[in-house]
Amino acid sequence: MAAPFVDTARITVKAGSGGNGAVAFHREKYVAAGGPDGGDGGRGGSVILEINEHMSTLMDANGMDGQGKRCSGKDGEDLVIKVPRGTVVRDAETGEIICDMSQTDRFVLARGGNGGWGNKHFATPTRQVPRFAKAGLPGQERQVILELKLLADVGLVGFPNVGKSTLLSVVSKARPKIANYHFTTLFPNLGVVYVEEGVSFVLADIPGIIEGAAEGAGLGHDFLRHIDRCRLLIHVVDVSGSEGRDPVADFEAIQAELKEYGSGLENRPMLVAGNKVDIAADRSALEALRTHVEGLGLPFYEISAAAQQGTRELMYAAARELEHLPPITVYEPTYVERPPEVDMSEPLEITHEDDTWLVEGPWLQRLMANVNFGDYESRNWFDRMLRQSGLFDRLEEMGIQDGDIVSLYNLEFEYQR
Ligand code: GDP
Ligand code: MG
Repeated sequence: MAAPFVDTARITVKAGSGGNGAVAFHREKYVAAGGPDGGDGGRGGSVILEINEHMSTLMDANGMDGQGKRCSGKDGEDLVIKVPRGTVVRDAETGEIICDMSQTDRFVLARGGNGGWGNKHFATPTRQVPRFAKAGLPGQERQVILELKLLADVGLVGFPNVGKSTLLSVVSKARPKIANYHFTTLFPNLGVVYVEEGVSFVLADIPGIIEGAAEGAGLGHDFLRHIDRCRLLIHVVDVSGSEGRDPVADFEAIQAELKEYGSGLENRPMLVAGNKVDIAADRSALEALRTHVEGLGLPFYEISAAAQQGTRELMYAAARELEHLPPITVYEPTYVERPPEVDMSEPLEITHEDDTWLVEGPWLQRLMANVNFGDYESRNWFDRMLRQSGLFDRLEEMGIQDGDIVSLYNLEFEYQR
């Protein structure tokens, strides 16, 4: 049996926390985890998305609530989740785009926490046996939605049973399932169409759109995401009259669905193909569609996919259109990282040895795991948070002097009033 097709997945991932640094001297350990030599804690394992060119569904990612490994001595192992090219990663809460995996091959979804420094790290000529080591920082945690948006130049749209899969099968090497009943195509198929030397494009066949699909009534809505990126659509309409259908009404119904979907699909460049002309006993329906479509300024082609009539011409026309159309859409990230909310009322633990002040506490740890210290704004924000927390007032009370070292997990600075 074919594997179930999965084109969206919601996952929660958590990177591993960094290991605690070790304090080791006089055989005394007051930090349990860590190396034997007062060494640093390892970095926590990250959660990484990686493209696998052979995959066409999000099955591997689905149901995977990934976790990077935590490790004390050496670095934690990364967790790699394989996804198909064209996977779009969104923040589950806001829907903002975090990354479009169409040109990116590898993306760190959740960063592992830095390991804490062991006391070996703090040994200086004036401070030879420091008693402290630092705890590791927690790994990032996030909830995301993965959404597969195929990378195809041209997308076939139309009612079920109009011959879309047949068309794909005769113009490419793709072998989609073809049968004379609605909804044979349950997942998208891609095929490469070689038009002539050096000219080819990718054609996608998606499950038939039915009326009301845009409101989620049928299969169609869910699958429209796959043609989101397409540069050109080929709208296939059955003009044979064999199912007693009205081609103009069908055409308009699909156009309404595209519009309803909402990402400007109805304005996507489009060619219209009247299919099954080989069994069109009465050509009046076909001509009515031609008049209607050409009246809208869209090119019309009559074809028989099954008999391979007009299909080459249609593919040439598609290739000519593509020549002057913009490339496949790649989504720019819209995600804005927000600082975590922390409750600063919980007092911090301050340890003091010579001129060094070691500050620790759960909220500080969480805050620091999320601040990007390479960014000026973030650093300023962090500084304001520290002041607000009353940390400096407490250090003053405890007797800190100008020039002393304040040591916060993976950050150290000289204290200046
Ligand atoms: P889809 O649902 O749009 O993908 O339609 P399919 O490609 O599965 O075709 C549905 C039915 O129409 C199948 O029985 C095909 O053999 C038939 N069919 C497709 N194209 C033509 C055509 O040009 N002429 C005729 N006579 N039948 C066709
Ligand atoms: Mg089909």
